[in-house]
Amino acid sequence: MKMSEFDLITRYFTRPERAYPPEVLLGIGDDCALLAPAPNLQAISSDMLVEGQHFFAHVDPRALGHKSLAVNLSDLAAIGARPVGFTLALALPNIDPAWLAEFSTGLFGLADQHGCALIGGDTTKGPRTICITIFGEVAARSALRRDAAQVDDDIWVSGDLGEARAGLAERRGEIVLDTAACATAHRRMDWPTPRTTLGLQLAGLAHAAIDISDGLVGDLQHILTRSKVGARLMIEALPIGPALRNLPTAVQRDFCLAGGDDYELCFTAAASQREQIHRAAQAARIAVTRIGQIEATPGLRVYDQCGTQIELPTTSFDHFAR
Ligand code: ADP
Ligand code: MG
Repeated sequence: MKMSEFDLITRYFTRPERAYPPEVLLGIGDDCALLAPAPNLQAISSDMLVEGQHFFAHVDPRALGHKSLAVNLSDLAAIGARPVGFTLALALPNIDPAWLAEFSTGLFGLADQHGCALIGGDTTKGPRTICITIFGEVAARSALRRDAAQVDDDIWVSGDLGEARAGLAERRGEIVLDTAACATAHRRMDWPTPRTTLGLQLAGLAHAAIDISDGLVGDLQHILTRSKVGARLMIEALPIGPALRNLPTAVQRDFCLAGGDDYELCFTAAASQREQIHRAAQAARIAVTRIGQIEATPGLRVYDQCGTQIELPTTSFDHFAR
């Protein structure tokens, strides 16, 4: 069977008009998609996933479809925006119908959960690369900007940390996990859950937020730099993923502080809002944990419960650093 680029788009990526949210006046099939202007701000973000760099060549294509969109939805969550639509630019070495069917199933499975429509894209031959640009909307005063942390804010994190990094370490043969922990860690790595509802609940309530893609320390540092503040973290307060339970404490802490791919939200909020934050988290059905405080002194410091400062792990993931 010989399939053209256009057959591929029609077959795997075009869906009935009714699948579009009301803002999308024109979706796939023309030179541009047309979005109606929203009264709120448009939130726009792109993420690119490259084979060999962000995913293994033999990763389950359904999981890859899910994760490609999940990382973009996570960016919208981190600024408190509601998802509207996305474009998909795809480079593929060949047309593999089985791969495409699985990839698009994973992609649309998550898209439908979030009412986020595929509105266009581009398809070309090349080393397997997936680039999604996502569009959302958020009220100007509610956006959770990285530069909005204030001195004495609490620092919070959603869910738990480190399991995705444990999944990577297990695949690299760096650690051994029992069967159940291994399954959990791989699921966290391959099927991340964007904290969309939490982001929407926190919009207008929390101050600054970021999604943890490269590791807590590195990502929190972005908030500190942009907000021109510092922070202290309490090491015992970190929500360590249950799958890390049998690893040495130092490894658990390292994975929590510097492991990437968790896609939890790290955010800051006034101490007077603690009740409200817990209510927001309950509404979003996700646990949140208070892990530290914003301080005026620049830099990030981590302490144990005796007040001893702990040395930070070798920062977060940087594609060009290794
Ligand atoms: P153009 O030549 O104008 O760039 P294309 O031939 O690349 O248009 O694409 C035709 C239509 O299919 C466009 O509406 C485009 O947005 C859409 N499209 C192309 N590739 C994809 C894809 N991978 N996913 C979704 N829509 C796509
Ligand atoms: Mg094109």
